[in-house]
Amino acid sequence: MDKRVELIATAQAMSAIGLNRGTAGNLSCRQRHGDREGFLITPTGMDYARLKPGDIPWVGLDGRFSGDKNPSSEWRLHRDIYVARIEAGAVLHAHSPFAVSLACLRRDIPPFHYMIARFGGDDVRCAAYALFGSQALSDAALLALEDRSACLLANHGMAVYGCDLKQALDRGVELETLCEHYWRASLLGEPALLEAEEMTAARERFQGYGGQGTEGSGSPRSAGRKNPGKE
Ligand code: 13P
Ligand code: ZN
Repeated sequence: MDKRVELIATAQAMSAIGLNRGTAGNLSCRQRHGDREGFLITPTGMDYARLKPGDIPWVGLDGRFSGDKNPSSEWRLHRDIYVARIEAGAVLHAHSPFAVSLACLRRDIPPFHYMIARFGGDDVRCAAYALFGSQALSDAALLALEDRSACLLANHGMAVYGCDLKQALDRGVELETLCEHYWRASLLGEPALLEAEEMTAARERFQGYGGQGTEGSGSPRSAGRKNPGKE
């Protein structure tokens, strides 16, 4: 699929899933332009439902852009993630309800659930507050993203990246779901936290998780048994 078409479809999925409302949030994917490194990104302030491929600007890692429309005001955040993380193929920023609610408390999300390990560490940090679209916001986010693929942005929202648009969207949904779980559990009391060894074990388990064609760790087949569903 054409990258601009895929970017628009994924941006529209962000709205359909409820990660974003209105023109909040933005999405990008890494894309070369000749011999220049850069990325495609949603244009600033435009309704995703009406986006056409010609509305999607390309931004170079040097910050120069081409296209009919201006890039998202958060292009620095996206650019800095692509520069710092060679494994990043797509970046998603959202103002999803539960992530925003927790980000307004300016608190890191602790290891209350093993799925926190999905993002690379024992917590998901909350970056310090900075003005939207500023270099200061990008700097704060990059600090919070150290050894992580996701962070909250104080009084603002979330930022996640993945190897491609699908993984970035999946991670955005996973983080929003975890924020909801943490919120709900906190209403009843102080959630019990997992120990460091338990989080390390979860991270290791994730390394083989979800493989279908391969002998993933923890699967019945990797334990030497046949998959009953395939008999
Ligand atoms: P853009 O419309 O410029 O992408 O801005 C939305 C946003 O979420 C700013 O933080
Ligand atoms: Zn924003």
